[in-house]
Amino acid sequence: MKLPVSEFTYFLRGEARKNLKILIAYVLFLTLMILFYAQLFVLLMAVLEDNHYSFATGIYWTVVTMSTLGYGDYVFTTDFGHLFSALVTFSGVIFMLILLPFGMISLFLAPWIEQRLRYRPHSMLAEDYRNHIIIFGYDTITRALIRKLVSHNTPYVVVCIDPNQAYKLEEEGLNVVVGSPTNVHFLKNIQVAQARHIIANLTDPLNTNICLTVRSFSDTPIATLVDESDRSDLLRLAGANRAIPLKRILGSYLASRATTMGATAHILDAFGKLLIAEMPVKSTPFVGQTLAQAQIRQQTGLAVIGLWERGTFTVPEASSLLSPKALMVLAGTREQLQSLEMFAEEQEGADRIMVLGHGRIGCSAASYLERRGIPFVLIDQKNNPDCMDHITVIGDATTHNLLQESGIEEAKGLIVTTNDDSTNIFLTLASRRHRPHMRIVARSNNEENVEQLYAAGADFVVSNASVGANILNNVLEGKESIFLTEGIDVFRTQLPTTLVGMTIAESQIRPKTGCSIVALEPPDSSDPIVSPPPETVLKEGYGLILIGSPDEEEDFSRRFRSAL
Ligand code: ADP
Ligand code: ZN
Repeated sequence: MKLPVSEFTYFLRGEARKNLKILIAYVLFLTLMILFYAQLFVLLMAVLEDNHYSFATGIYWTVVTMSTLGYGDYVFTTDFGHLFSALVTFSGVIFMLILLPFGMISLFLAPWIEQRLRYRPHSMLAEDYRNHIIIFGYDTITRALIRKLVSHNTPYVVVCIDPNQAYKLEEEGLNVVVGSPTNVHFLKNIQVAQARHIIANLTDPLNTNICLTVRSFSDTPIATLVDESDRSDLLRLAGANRAIPLKRILGSYLASRATTMGATAHILDAFGKLLIAEMPVKSTPFVGQTLAQAQIRQQTGLAVIGLWERGTFTVPEASSLLSPKALMVLAGTREQLQSLEMFAEEQEGADRIMVLGHGRIGCSAASYLERRGIPFVLIDQKNNPDCMDHITVIGDATTHNLLQESGIEEAKGLIVTTNDDSTNIFLTLASRRHRPHMRIVARSNNEENVEQLYAAGADFVVSNASVGANILNNVLEGKESIFLTEGIDVFRTQLPTTLVGMTIAESQIRPKTGCSIVALEPPDSSDPIVSPPPETVLKEGYGLILIGSPDEEEDFSRRFRSAL
C-alpha cells in the first residue's frame, strides 16, 4: 500500500504519539544494553583471553552477536566466554528480534491499519442540514475558497468521488462526503435542495451533468467554473446560474498587464453603466505627472481608483506620481473611457510579447494580444490541440538558448504561464537576469508561490487560486463586487437611509468605515456620478459604488445594516 506523506502525521498525534515515546524509551534501553555488553566484552576478552580490543570493536561484536549474525571474527575460547556469548545472543533474540518488532506492530502498525479499516466516509448529511455550500472538485481554487468560508463560519462540504482522497482531506480537517456527483439519490442525501449554493469545479462535461442532475429536483443556485469559455452557454443551458470562464479571465488579466502600451483600456468588469478598467500609464500623455497635475477627472470624468506598480496596488492620492511602468485602474462610463483613449496614442515601435505556455490561459492571453494587434511569440513544449489559431514555437522554454533564439532580446514583455510553478519561477528569474527592464508577468498556480515569483523578479503575479476563490466567494455572498487584488474589492450597495440628505463629507463614510466612494448611481438609469466631490448631496434611491478591503466592506454593512 502506498503511504502518502500526510499519513505520517498519524504517528505524531494522540495515542500514537504516546506510543512513540515508549518506543524511544525502549530504543534508549536497547542502546544502553549494547554499550554495557560492549564494555563487558572488552573487559572479559582482556581478562579471560588476554586479547585487547577497542570499545568500538566491543560495540561491533555485541551488535553482530545480538542480531544472531555471528560472523565469528572475534570469538571467546574459554567456557565463561562462551556463556557470556550465549547470554548476549539470548538477550538479542528477546529484546531485538522479538520485543522490538512486536512493539512496532502492536503499537503502530496494527492501530494504524485498524483506523484505516474503521474509516467509513460519510455519504449523507442530516435531514435538517441546510444553508451549506456544496463543493464538487477540490483543487487550489476551492482550497482557497474553503479557507474564506471557514473564516466566516459558513458551513460547507466537499464532495469526493474517491474515498482515499476523502480520507486524506478529512485528516486535514475538512468536511467531506463521498459519492457520485451525478447520482440523484446521493445528491438528495447531502441535502442539495436545502443547500445555499453549489460550486461545480470538475471537468466541463461533469459540471454539465451535475447541473442537469441537480436541476431535475431542485433549484439551488449553481456556480461553475468553465475551462473553455465558449461552453458557458452550454452550462447555463444545463442549469448553471453562473458559468465563470476563469482561464479566459486569467489569460486576459496576464496579457493586459504584460503590455505597457495599448491605447485601449482593458475592461475588468462593470456595475451597470460604470466600467472598471485598467490602462497602462505609458500610452497616455500623463507620464511623469502627479495625479493632481494630470487632471484626468477634469478632462475625462474618469476616476483613477488604483495604481499598480511592480505588483503593488495603491489607492492613489493627489500627489501620486504616474510612472511609465504603472497601470491605472479607472472607473467611469464607456464614453469617459473613450475620451481618455483619445488622449492615448500608440507608442512608436509596438510592443512585442513572449508567451511561455500555450495552455488555456496562455491561449487566452494570446487571443487578447491578437485582438489588440500586439505582436507576440508563443512557446510551448507541444501543440495545443484545442487551438487552431496560434502558431507555437515548440520547445521546452527552460532549455538553454530557446528564449534567445525566439527573440527574447526584442521582447518588451513576457508572460510566464506554464502549469508548473517551479518552471515559472525559474523562467522568471532567468529572464529577469537577462533583461532587467522587461515587463514580466507570471501565473502562480499555488497561492504559496506568489512571493517566490515576485522575489524572482516578476512585475506582476496573478494567482489562479486567489482570483478564482475571490470570484467564487463574491458569487456566494451575492455581492456585486469586483476583485482587484487580495484585500481590495470594488462593490455596490444601496445608500443607507440614515445618510439621505447628507453631503458626502457629512456622511463620514470614509473616516468611519475606510471605504471610499467611487461613484453614485442615480435611481433613474442616467449616467453614474463618478468620483463625486465631498459637497455632493446623497439623495434617496442612490446606489453607492465603494472601494475598500473586505473588512472595511463588512464594517460598512454592519454599521448600516438596519438602514440598508
Ligand atoms: P492551463 O490550461 O491552465 O493554461 P495547461 O496545463 O493546459 O494549463 O497548460 C500549461 C502549458 O504549459 C502546457 O501546454 C505545457 O505544455 C506548457 N509547459 C509546461 N512546462 C513547459 C516548459 N518548460 N516549456 C514550455 N511549455 C511548457
Ligand atoms: Zn491558442
